[in-house]
Amino acid sequence: MIRINEHYIKLKASYLFADITRRVAEFQKANPARSIIRLGIGDVTEPLPPVCVAALHAAADEMARRETFKGYGPDQGYAFLRDAIARHDYQARGCAIEPDEIFVSDGAKCDCGNIQEIFAADTRVAIPDPVYPVYLDTNVMAGRTGYDRDGRYEGIVYLDSTPANGYVPALPSQPVDLIYLCFPNNPTGAVATRAQLAAWVDYAKRHRAVILFDSAYETFIRDPQIPHSIYEIAGARDVAIELRSFSKTAGFTGTRCAYTVVPKTLVASDAAGHAQPLHPLWYRRQSTKFNGVSYPVQRAAAAIYTDEGRQQTRALADFYLGNARLIRDALRRFGIPCIGGENAPYIWANVGHDSWAFFDLLLTKAGVVCTPGAGFGRCGQGHVRISAFNSRENVTAALERIGTVLK
Ligand SMILES: *Cc1c(COP(=O)(O)O)cnc(C)c1O
Repeated sequence: MIRINEHYIKLKASYLFADITRRVAEFQKANPARSIIRLGIGDVTEPLPPVCVAALHAAADEMARRETFKGYGPDQGYAFLRDAIARHDYQARGCAIEPDEIFVSDGAKCDCGNIQEIFAADTRVAIPDPVYPVYLDTNVMAGRTGYDRDGRYEGIVYLDSTPANGYVPALPSQPVDLIYLCFPNNPTGAVATRAQLAAWVDYAKRHRAVILFDSAYETFIRDPQIPHSIYEIAGARDVAIELRSFSKTAGFTGTRCAYTVVPKTLVASDAAGHAQPLHPLWYRRQSTKFNGVSYPVQRAAAAIYTDEGRQQTRALADFYLGNARLIRDALRRFGIPCIGGENAPYIWANVGHDSWAFFDLLLTKAGVVCTPGAGFGRCGQGHVRISAFNSRENVTAALERIGTVLK
């Protein structure tokens, strides 16, 4: 009989969001009159910026006419979008990234899940803890790990993010080849300074490793000292792939558009020890297994880079950051240490005891839902993630209720 990919059996069931849903449903059933506010959401809540909506409408009309109709687009995405990305996201910040180093896709989730395919099966992988689960699970599926033992897969080098290191992991003490980094971070909201990123780039150079830099939350950076891109660090072109998305930048979680940068100077070794550029490998992978993002969606993404679009997306991020500030200030008043929320839409609260117990307390006493940190990894224990993706009314009401409970 045909056999399954055995590595899928190793995957730890992700109980996190299912568990949250179940506990909330049980509470609501037992207390039908209580209103519940969800501050656990990892999805945006506000509608698309008007420039994007206008671009979608205009592109839909183009698709309706023979003269302007579009079929399959270029493999790496339309030049109008890649040119805008290269100019505004990179060259304007002093990063030498060219449009043909950019690959437009339908999500940073698929890109960060798929990119591991271009590396050898015995690649030594370093992954932060706590973490966005995609990095870990896709390496398990690819067979790069052993079994899960007490919440950690054998063969993965975990990079601990703890109160002691300010939630920015130290360089690994054992050699690794592929390093996943995400700043501003999900779930912690932590950002990395220029010096911290430079230390990772230096490590990658010395160990001939590759960094996968997920900057999906770049748009929330307000501190002028914090780099928006890994390519702001000298030499990063030779060691890093960067993943970005319009999901959080412009509310595209349901519209789907993102991109990955693979510099042409980035190489890895083949079996004979010769340096091979990674750009052609990713090109081959994408052109074989992916057929691009729809024309109207690429037009909507390009609209973000107009003057109006930039104002509208900035206002959108400012709105969520306003929520984040309210949450952060309130938690501090309640005596709960936290990080994040200043350059990120997430606040990581150090609740000091079991994160599920704190979740239950907020749910049953305040009717507020947060995300238990333990669901993101062992180092997440003792923490909860509170999301700023919500309406202002919901945030204000939730904080009032939490204040009453924690007083
Ligand atoms: C939301 C998010 C993304 C974006 O994923 P898309 O597939 O582009 O929606 C990427 N990385 C992290 C860490 C995220 O939280």
